[in-house]
Amino acid sequence: MAALSKKLRSVDGGRLMFWCPGCDGAHQVGVGDGPGPRWGYNGNPDAPTFTPSILVEGSMRKGPIRCHSFVTDGRIQFLADCNHALAGQTVDIPEGGGVMFGLLDWMKFAAGAAMGAALIVVPAYVKGKAAGREQAAVSALETSVKILRTKA
Ligand SMILES: [Zn+2]
Repeated sequence: MAALSKKLRSVDGGRLMFWCPGCDGAHQVGVGDGPGPRWGYNGNPDAPTFTPSILVEGSMRKGPIRCHSFVTDGRIQFLADCNHALAGQTVDIPEGGGVMFGLLDWMKFAAGAAMGAALIVVPAYVKGKAAGREQAAVSALETSVKILRTKA
């Protein structure tokens, strides 16, 4: 991980991470080219904008979370369907997240990838299509396996 600014860190796999004060945890979004869902990014780590909205569902330290937001010009607009106290509010992405990210690094070290693996982060509009896409991915994989078998 590398700090891009006080608000943003880069993570392996072309992902960017910011601290969410609603969840009291870090969220990651994929930008540019790469596997998994990808968001549009304005390229400004001091005032990042991601499109479309970011929907996070899963379990964090404090229990089940649902966090749905638009990140625009370095501010997080939490939509009304969040299950945390900041639902419906717009706040700055916390600066000085380095200490918290450091804590996160330590927790990952201590707890393995379990915490991050429990999170599902997708653009909201993709969510309904996820099952179909998974099926398509499995089909494609089976096809390539069959091709490999044919070649062998
Ligand atoms: Zn959140």
